[in-house]
Amino acid sequence: MNRPARISFVSLGCPKALVDSERIITRLRAEGYELSRDHAGADLAIVNTCGFLDSAQAESLAAIGSAMAENGKVIVTGCMGAEPEKITSVHPGVLAVTGPQQYESVLDAVHRAAPPQHDPYADLIPPEGVKLTPRHYAYLKISEGCNNRCTFCIIPKLRGDLVSRPAADVLREAEKLVAAGVKELLVISQDTSAYGVDLKYATSSWKGREVRAKFLDLAEELGGLGVWVRLHYVYPYPHVDAVIPLMADGKVLPYLDVPFQHASPDLLRRMRRPAAQEKTLERIRAWRKICPSLTIRSTFIVGFPGETEADFSMLLDWLDEAELDRVGCFRYEPVAGAAANDLGAPVPDAIKDERWHRFMQRQQAISRKRLKRKIGNRERVIIDEVGPGPGLDPGIAKGRSKADAPQIDGAVHVASHRPLRVGEIATVKIERADDYDLHGTAVGYA
Ligand code: SF4
Repeated sequence: MNRPARISFVSLGCPKALVDSERIITRLRAEGYELSRDHAGADLAIVNTCGFLDSAQAESLAAIGSAMAENGKVIVTGCMGAEPEKITSVHPGVLAVTGPQQYESVLDAVHRAAPPQHDPYADLIPPEGVKLTPRHYAYLKISEGCNNRCTFCIIPKLRGDLVSRPAADVLREAEKLVAAGVKELLVISQDTSAYGVDLKYATSSWKGREVRAKFLDLAEELGGLGVWVRLHYVYPYPHVDAVIPLMADGKVLPYLDVPFQHASPDLLRRMRRPAAQEKTLERIRAWRKICPSLTIRSTFIVGFPGETEADFSMLLDWLDEAELDRVGCFRYEPVAGAAANDLGAPVPDAIKDERWHRFMQRQQAISRKRLKRKIGNRERVIIDEVGPGPGLDPGIAKGRSKADAPQIDGAVHVASHRPLRVGEIATVKIERADDYDLHGTAVGYA
């Protein structure tokens, strides 16, 4: 072969898996491989799988099946790779199966199947690596693995215990991203507020300063880079309170993604959730006092084994009190290998469904009310898409306010007197709200 090998890549799963994909692709591009949009015609295909839920595993197996049918030379990596027999029993012809974060093994498998044709002059990659997200935002993974043992989750089994990156390492990556035009950093990990526990908060040197590998210190330093910094997967440990003043001061976005999962103390115990004993309603009230513009996003599980009607009503009452802004809700799914499967007292599917609908109805009214309060406000909006496009009128752009994370929250639809550019941050006067989105007109372009 005297042309660079071409590789098609499918990335499934959560933002953490996306970051893994970005790292693999960055390495491949650095070695001179080209990417192909289609499996057909590529020299080989890589599928980065998700193994979190049974439905995600089914999706991963289907994606491997398509790659096998259309290409035939397939390397599988990611969370499902931790249990290779699940893959090889269905697709015995895959070339290699590697687990999550095993970048080197993926590269080895690629080298065996399609040796690199490196041309140092032609294969220059941008210094920030290749991003799968749009150029103006990027995920910043600060640690791998998790020290918790939530009974519904198999991530610690798949990814191991918490391993934090040194603060200087994270900050150097963040700085490179910003230099390459990234305007919004999305901080991710399995348990962001536990960052650095494994390192005993060791310091590392960045710009002549010693920076501790600690949630607050990292948030403060990232806040100094002059871009939007959004914190995801933050458990409400007591030390999280200290980050709220940074939000009130505009250093990091006034946005907290806290996966509460439930409100009943008994259920939280059965789930073995971290920080389950913290008085969350009081905390939320105190946070909002310090930072009134704070947006709180969360996820919940209904129908967890042993959930009684009393537990569920407690959750609905808690929702009324907490008045969260953005909420996702999942019906409990028994993931193979999760400790929760042995707890007994499964909730019948019909009851799970009924609770899910009641939950969504209750929360939708709350979210709608909170969105309506923004009518008349001037909000800073980062532009993600410009029209015309699928579902976008000419002259209308789609963006997000500080309250909206990409992919999971709502959008702001923006009319403008001059064309807006993707990645630009405009000031928008909010004129209307619907169930999930805001609508308004750009009034400032700086
Ligand atoms: S905090 Fe719980 S749900 Fe999240 S990865 Fe760790 S064990 Fe899983």
